[in-house]
Amino acid sequence: MTSISRRKFARISSIASLSLILPFNLKAFLKYKHMTDIKHFDIIIVGGSYSGLAAGMALGRALKKVLIIDNGQPCNRQTPTSHNFITQDGKTPKEIATLAKHQVEQYDTIRFFNGLAIKGAKTNNGFEIQVSSGEIFFAKKLIFATGIKDIMPSIEGYAECWGISVLHCPYCHGYEVKGGKTGILGNGNFGFEFSVLILNWTKDLTLFTDGKSVLTSEQTVKLQSHNIKIIEKVIEKLEHKCGYLESIRFKDGSTLPVRAMYAHSEFKQNCMIPKDLGCELTEEGYIKVDNLQKTSIHGIFACGDNTTRMRTVANSTAMGTTAGIAISKEMIFEDF
Ligand SMILES: Cc1cc2nc3c(=O)[nH]c(=O)nc-3n(C[C@H](O)[C@H](O)[C@H](O)COP(=O)(O)OP(=O)(O)OC[C@H]3O[C@@H](n4cnc5c(N)ncnc54)[C@H](O)[C@@H]3O)c2cc1C
Repeated sequence: MTSISRRKFARISSIASLSLILPFNLKAFLKYKHMTDIKHFDIIIVGGSYSGLAAGMALGRALKKVLIIDNGQPCNRQTPTSHNFITQDGKTPKEIATLAKHQVEQYDTIRFFNGLAIKGAKTNNGFEIQVSSGEIFFAKKLIFATGIKDIMPSIEGYAECWGISVLHCPYCHGYEVKGGKTGILGNGNFGFEFSVLILNWTKDLTLFTDGKSVLTSEQTVKLQSHNIKIIEKVIEKLEHKCGYLESIRFKDGSTLPVRAMYAHSEFKQNCMIPKDLGCELTEEGYIKVDNLQKTSIHGIFACGDNTTRMRTVANSTAMGTTAGIAISKEMIFEDF
């Protein structure tokens, strides 16, 4: 054996033994190390939470070269436990996402980039996506699984309680606070309908209109006939301990104990690249897609919360899987 080949041998065996002793998988490590060397992909997925990862898994299994760009800000990150996703009920959002990412990492053709996609453009044979560090990646097709951003109202304590005791959905969190002293922040038709729905989970219900009620007199009578209280006082603050609501303080100085409150926040799209690339939005502000998650622009798909009001982990992953299968089929047939 020459001295050079001995050196080579030593290097190879040290890498091999490192893979045995390191607390992580060497192949995955090398994959990360070299991830930015590759610039051209079949598909770029922007957004690597539940929906983006589900799309990534379908595409990895279809042998497509995929880059998943994600900046790690899923909408449910503040919620202590996630519910109503079969097999994962009661897990933390992070546990679900970590397991999902681990499973997607097993597919060799998938690469990850931690960062923010800031710009997109059409190219001759597809698209390019620029990230905030300046790098540009290219792909024949794009998937946006970028979610939405909830806009918090300017009530003190609201943002801190969001997802913990200020809740967006009874199917996700209603069971945990069933029967408790519960509020609804809303007015008009929305406040009325939300109150009717939430009465299923608790009979101790108060509708806070946060100012003058615009319920019709018929709606008011109906709610009162079901013992739903209506309070028109202006809210000053949500008093809480570590996000767990204790009481509502009104501008007039009075307080009322409440354990949970349902509310709908305004939202905006997390990522405006689809719109900039010409994808149509619905009147409500979601990305318009068909039943295969295709947007109005050929080659661009969208999935998850950015496309629908039906906001659950199960629905987001289902849409991601659909997008992944549909986009790979489209490519397979186009390339044939
Ligand atoms: C407070 C709260 C609690 C919830 N609780 C439950 C529950 O208990 N059960 C349930 O089923 N559902 C729950 N949901 C709904 C569920 O969390 C969402 O439906 C789900 O997270 C949507 O998945 P998504 O992949 O579409 O978007 P998200 O999970 O929001 O992920 C979007 C991802 O895209 C990334 N991203 C966005 N823009 C860019 C960009 N330009 N570049 C790079 N990355 C980008 C973000 O960082 C993020 O990682 C809850 C929602 C909220 C708000």
